Amino acid sequence: MSETPMRARAVVDLAALRANVRALRARAPRAQLMAVVKADAYGHGAVPCARAARQAGAEWLGTATPQEALALRAAGDTGRLLCWLWTPGGPWREAVEADIDVSVSGLWALEEVTAAVRAAGRPARVQLKIDTGLGRNGCQPGDWEKLVAAARDAERAGLVKVTGVWSHFACADEPGHPSIRAQLGVFEDALSYAAREGLTPEVRHIANSPATLTLPETHYDLVRTGVAMYGISPSPEVGLPEDFGLRPVMTLTASLASVKRVPGGHGVSYGHLYVTPGETTLALVPVGYADGIPRAASGTGPVLVGGKWRTVAGRVAMDQFVVDLGGDTARVGDEAVLFGPGDRGEPTAEDWARATGTIAYEVVTRISARVPRVYTGEIPEDSTSHDTGE
Ligand SMILES: *Cc1c(COP(=O)(O)O)cnc(C)c1O
Repeated sequence: MSETPMRARAVVDLAALRANVRALRARAPRAQLMAVVKADAYGHGAVPCARAARQAGAEWLGTATPQEALALRAAGDTGRLLCWLWTPGGPWREAVEADIDVSVSGLWALEEVTAAVRAAGRPARVQLKIDTGLGRNGCQPGDWEKLVAAARDAERAGLVKVTGVWSHFACADEPGHPSIRAQLGVFEDALSYAAREGLTPEVRHIANSPATLTLPETHYDLVRTGVAMYGISPSPEVGLPEDFGLRPVMTLTASLASVKRVPGGHGVSYGHLYVTPGETTLALVPVGYADGIPRAASGTGPVLVGGKWRTVAGRVAMDQFVVDLGGDTARVGDEAVLFGPGDRGEPTAEDWARATGTIAYEVVTRISARVPRVYTGEIPEDSTSHDTGE
């Protein structure tokens, strides 16, 4: 790792990511694994994380937007890659030419795909998505017959290959939620109908991270793991990362930009929401909401400074916030650890989620581009060494 001084950095441990992929594969031994790297790999950096996931054996990558999928191709990825969040206009043709599996939830999308196929002069790989109850994207069960028929006709005409039938859970992060059984029932019906109509998808899939961790009966041919691959538990109900042998991948640190003694009664940051209770030492942590630190962390966010947890004193501003060191001292340039795996006693992304009324997914994903990502544990792309599972 570079020792160049930095205002702030998000250290991304790719060895931990690879180990997490292996731990997830061990949970779903009969299924293939899709590394979900949408939203810049939940803020961790899509290209390095995708490469690390491939090195650990991920057969598939998954993205939301076509731009995310095309960026992975531009960076040299050549494996199977599914992209699921489409709007009219695609770009379908670029996706077909880049050998991306495209998700289709309705007839309009299938029509745009087949038009693009004619322009590209090569068939498209299409995965049909059924809404089994999430109520978001996906074909309504009542429209499934029409979509399956149209896809089968397009397949017989040599325009598409239906490579997958899939769906997404609403409440897999709440083990025992009745919607899980209900969704599986709808999924089974959709699968049998598609099979009866002559579709032979390579992969049937519905499991996200929580389902991969807690519901083996949902693994089918492929599991799509996002948050767990980054070493974060989908929810407190599912458990702690270490319960599943997962290790948080991102550590967010900053260098203290100011340390000073102030008298009691001193207001701190905008609005003076915090007033020093007595003479004390204040430390300035040079990250704020422009870096993705939630403003909701004002007065609540935990930070490790000088070996102890401190709490954000007063408001989180655009570029900085303050912690009160009480009777302790620190030096300018000392490290503040906002979150990480927890082994040095630092808070975790889950702790930040609890403190700020959100989920750990959002804590890591919102860390902005102003914070440089620093990669450790990387295996060079052209390396002949094998990932030995360190
Ligand atoms: C984001 C996403 C996933 C991954 O979800 P995690 O809970 O992070 O594992 C899987 N499938 C789809 C369709 C998604 O949008």
